[in-house]
Amino acid sequence: MRPILHRYMKHLCSAVGLAFLSTSLGSCRPDLPPTATGTSLAASTPLKTGKNTDYRTPPVRGPVPRNPDFAFSSDFSRKGGISFSRVPVSGKYIAMTFDDGPNPQNTPRLLDILRVRNIKATFYVIGRNVDLYPQIVRRTVAEGHEIGNHSYTHRLFTKLSDSEVRSDLTRCRDAVGRAAGVQPRTLRPPYGGLLQRQREMVFAEFGYPTILWNVDPLDWKRPGPSVVCARILSHTTAGSIVLAHDLHGSTVDAMPATLDGLLQRGFQFITVSQLLAMQAEPATTAHAAPGTPPLMPVSMGGADGQPLSSAP
Ligand SMILES: [Zn+2]
Repeated sequence: MRPILHRYMKHLCSAVGLAFLSTSLGSCRPDLPPTATGTSLAASTPLKTGKNTDYRTPPVRGPVPRNPDFAFSSDFSRKGGISFSRVPVSGKYIAMTFDDGPNPQNTPRLLDILRVRNIKATFYVIGRNVDLYPQIVRRTVAEGHEIGNHSYTHRLFTKLSDSEVRSDLTRCRDAVGRAAGVQPRTLRPPYGGLLQRQREMVFAEFGYPTILWNVDPLDWKRPGPSVVCARILSHTTAGSIVLAHDLHGSTVDAMPATLDGLLQRGFQFITVSQLLAMQAEPATTAHAAPGTPPLMPVSMGGADGQPLSSAP
């Protein structure tokens, strides 16, 4: 496995793939029990990177590009909008997002890759995985990353009743709170599916803007690290929200070259909440009444003071 992957890494970004700018359904893999992670699809695909059991992140040789230190506020305005696939900003700021974790093999490896580059990302976690691997969520938060709500059971919300949506989001939120003492600030609906009416309900009751994406490498189809890298590098622009899945070993394999390539192109990484807080004030809200409370305090250090759901 290692020589094959080494070859992939060596030629990373050499492949030219069709990338997608998409917020379509189906960008998350179908439900699988957490214990089946990385095995079921691999068994039915000829891709050599499928199981990935022997892969270890190569040690860093020499300096890697490093993201600057940032102290941007994470307090975004409730008037900024309730749904985003990208955020209009003036600088080359972007947010990397990783869905469907935590995963016991791949998430820690990804955290190592991010840490050496000083990159803070946003992890849209599945609550049942949080309950299985709370220590990984604790580490993720301790290293400065942001946690978002990706539901507890990863069902398609458009097929659920409002009470089921409330229950699922609440269970995930509470699992994150138990694991790491923080509250998610935003929602990524499973499969990107959420009705406008549901988005408004979630925003009103949980305070979560719905966060989609504008760069989708379709990594859940396991096209190989080089293709994932090429798709992300060719479609990321200022304000992009990039979708990826730390569930998949091959996605994590793609990250060193992807992140280095983005840094070398002048992009700088911040979290989703920081990106939302940075967006240009819409003209209609430029003179909003003062004192509009932010959704969250800057600190991610505790659940205190956070409005809980008003769901029954
Ligand atoms: Zn997902």
